[in-house]
Amino acid sequence: MSTSLERLQSRLALAPVDALLVTDPKNVTWLTGFTGSYGYALLRADRGVFITDSRYTLQAQAEVTGLEVISFASPRSMIDLMDEQIAALKVEKLGFEPSVTYQTWESWTRKITSCEWVAQPDLLPPLRMVKTPEELSKIRAACQLADQCMEHIVGMLQPGVSEYDIGLAIEFFFRRAGAGIAFDPIVASGLNSAKPHGRASEKKLVRGDFVTLDFGATLDGYNSDITRTFVIGPASDRQKLLYARVLEAQVAAVDALRPGANGRDVEALARKILDQDDLAQYFGHGLGHGLGADVHDYGRLTSTVDQPIEVGQVWTVEPGVYINDFGGLRIEDDVVVTEGEPEILTHFPKNLMEL
Ligand code: ZN
Ligand code: ZN
Repeated sequence: MSTSLERLQSRLALAPVDALLVTDPKNVTWLTGFTGSYGYALLRADRGVFITDSRYTLQAQAEVTGLEVISFASPRSMIDLMDEQIAALKVEKLGFEPSVTYQTWESWTRKITSCEWVAQPDLLPPLRMVKTPEELSKIRAACQLADQCMEHIVGMLQPGVSEYDIGLAIEFFFRRAGAGIAFDPIVASGLNSAKPHGRASEKKLVRGDFVTLDFGATLDGYNSDITRTFVIGPASDRQKLLYARVLEAQVAAVDALRPGANGRDVEALARKILDQDDLAQYFGHGLGHGLGADVHDYGRLTSTVDQPIEVGQVWTVEPGVYINDFGGLRIEDDVVVTEGEPEILTHFPKNLMEL
């Protein structure tokens, strides 16, 4: 399989720009291997340079593959070096990533006037969405750790335990395993579970609560993202019905993630299942998002996005229902699209657990 750099350069050959300036730190790491905080790649289809400052010269020389490393030191600035290299590579139309801040873009374009600046939002992201085997193994490892954390935490879910203590235990588990937390864990019980992104509070679990846990690990630069909802004590008939429908929607949506499908149709399928009991009205967010170096990686599974599904993409599938003054639930797995059946990376059981 060709490298990220080769894949991007062959795409660049067909693009309406002469070169692309890659500045988003996650994209820089994905493209070059560089893990420092400040370095840009300036690419033409057939050559390119990596530019950074003197703090990172040695690190860049060790980490960056496929590009010559050029660095600057005070009193020279990044803009001086960019200006010089843009001229050296004879760039007339320069593509840039739209994630740059307005302030930075303004400073670039004021100083560097030898080229035309053209935003290129769609050049790199489709490539980053298709994971290499190496990236998949990192995401797998992060998912395995999330499963282990769920296994560990489920043992502490009982009346009297506070959401806050559960959140801390999740963070401690990941830190102790040498991982980071992908985001502040969501712990939402009872009426709080009607908030899709309820933050852990001092509320203690009581019998009859739904309790939704949503968390992920960051391991080796890649993330996992899992949600499970439990019931403390026996579930009511209403809770059982809601759970069964969300689970049915989740399982069907996972299975629909096949090459050639479109993300908005996959979401529509989940909504249709929820609507059998008039529940789609309580499902207010998208079905899922891309997962990788970012927790919310490129790509969305939602009605407003034309999202072709391709082999090698990794998606979260996370339908939920949230009912004010009652509570809510969500079930989320991480899934790789393959030639055949989708591969689910998070393995913690999904059947209703009454604790
Ligand atoms: Zn999540
Ligand atoms: Zn998610």
